[in-house]
Amino acid sequence: MEEERKLKCFKCGVPLEIQTVFLEYSCNSLHTDLPVCPVCGQVYMSEEMARTKAVEVEQQFEEK
Ligand SMILES: [Zn+2]
Repeated sequence: MEEERKLKCFKCGVPLEIQTVFLEYSCNSLHTDLPVCPVCGQVYMSEEMARTKAVEVEQQFEEK
């Protein structure tokens, strides 16, 4: 089972760490786990990930 590919910061060349980041989507916001560079703090989110998160956010707020 291939879980996650090891991501590296393109700038620093260090492995990214999964951190809880504050994400804003439209007028909504939430905390979510994303790969973050521990050196420069760059958050990495692919387009696919962004779409998935956007759906998650919509679902979360629809449930309330
Ligand atoms: Zn970096």
